[in-house]
Amino acid sequence: MMNKEITSAQLQQVYDLGCLFALQKLSLEEALEKLVGSLDMNQTSATNYMHNFEAFRAGKVYKRAMGALSYEIFLSRFYKDLSVSEFERVMESVELHLEYRWSKSKAKHLEIRTLVDSYKVKLASQVVSPIYPDEVHEQPTELIEGAIRQVTINAYERNPKARAACIEEYGATCQVCDFNSEAKYGDIGKGFIHVHHKVDIATIGESYQVDPINDLIPVCPNCHAMLHTEKPAMSIEKLKQIIDNDKVN
Ligand SMILES: [Zn+2]
Ligand SMILES: [Zn+2]
Repeated sequence: MMNKEITSAQLQQVYDLGCLFALQKLSLEEALEKLVGSLDMNQTSATNYMHNFEAFRAGKVYKRAMGALSYEIFLSRFYKDLSVSEFERVMESVELHLEYRWSKSKAKHLEIRTLVDSYKVKLASQVVSPIYPDEVHEQPTELIEGAIRQVTINAYERNPKARAACIEEYGATCQVCDFNSEAKYGDIGKGFIHVHHKVDIATIGESYQVDPINDLIPVCPNCHAMLHTEKPAMSIEKLKQIIDNDKVN
């Protein structure tokens, strides 16, 4: 352990200093001066904490152990302060550390492992805008896509502003089969929907401007996959017809 008697108020300050140090807004000397001077922490513990923060932000392994309380406080702060991808980097770093500890001493650190797993669950439930495996690589941030040479339908489907406008118009309910994720799964399903781009790529010119209401339509992941079984994608009407025919049979 680094410093058994450290309090959670002190760990909050360690976190603040650690982040400033990792972002190079504070030199190691300045950070240590504060930790050793005002928190009465020993030089070695303080140095180890700072190096751990560097590793957290870089997604790299760190070797010095920390107590469970440190993890509790740091992970909850990181989760609040960082973007999803930055937080994932922190988790990667903790995983690497746990592997390292395991290789050295066969220590499982169950308490820390449980904590890390609970954050994994939280992260998984945050995904509201899934990326289709066979879909793409570009994400235009503006509604007007003028002069884009390699346009892809999928980029339109993932354009966040256009998506939001489309969902606001139609609701997060599948416009083919009426599936609503929240109705089925409760809170965790709220707002979960794909957005399909109805306009054939061949008809799209160079300065095409996506119309979120006429060109886009919310569909559930299953219907979305079915629409894309044809190239160009089949029409909404055709898929509805297929579903209706199936009911009759
Ligand atoms: Zn559907
Ligand atoms: Zn689509």
